[in-house]
Amino acid sequence: MTGFVIAISALLGLLIGSFLNVVIWRVPRHESIVSPPSRCPGCEQLIRPYDNIPVLSWLILRGKCRSCKTKISARYPLVEAGTAILWGLLAWRFAGSWALPAYLVLAAGLVALSLIDLDTFLLPNRIVYPLTVAVTVLFGAAGVVGGVGDFRRALLSGLGVFAVFLLLHLVSPRGMGFGDVKFSFVLGLSLGWVSPATAFLGIFMGFLLGSVVGIGLIATKVKTRKDHVPFGPFMALGTLIALLVGPQILRLLSQ
Ligand SMILES: [Zn+2]
Repeated sequence: MTGFVIAISALLGLLIGSFLNVVIWRVPRHESIVSPPSRCPGCEQLIRPYDNIPVLSWLILRGKCRSCKTKISARYPLVEAGTAILWGLLAWRFAGSWALPAYLVLAAGLVALSLIDLDTFLLPNRIVYPLTVAVTVLFGAAGVVGGVGDFRRALLSGLGVFAVFLLLHLVSPRGMGFGDVKFSFVLGLSLGWVSPATAFLGIFMGFLLGSVVGIGLIATKVKTRKDHVPFGPFMALGTLIALLVGPQILRLLSQ
């Protein structure tokens, strides 16, 4: 049964990843994510359904448009494969938990927000708000079926993390953007469903990864101290690591 759930989740993840590519491209441009259908940015040719199969089409076409041979970024198949792997891993980690749907939706949101933040240095409300509502409702439903205590702990954790980020924003508005503050609640909520220690670990790892990479980029002169380094992807990464292997890390730390 678990193997079946993992396989179905990974397959669905491929399709969702394909949809996330549309979201990542269109939301920052304030375009609709449902219409019109995708076209090649080079020749405006409609992309045929058989050229739109996740990962496979890109490999078959060797990363080029069928009509005009414009190069298609490797990021598209990577987002599709990455979402599939994430969904498979989360299904493995939370198999048998009512919270699995909430985690799958969260992961899709994290993929989209991370790449948009890398592209634009923004975490659009058009994604953060619906993601927060959807994940909260799904955890609420899981709480009703599985145990209200888990949901109460998740909510408190979300509010706690939000309060910490808000405080950091008030102390240093340039260091901690308000976009990150709005984003923090859903992370604290999702981590807190597992345990408060997991929430602490996930947020801590986000800061750690962000600082290490930030310092690395400045040391290697890829960026200067004045450049902006998006924080969203690191928060997302810290959260996903804590969700997937948090228990193992906490056990190692407590030895
Ligand atoms: Zn083309």
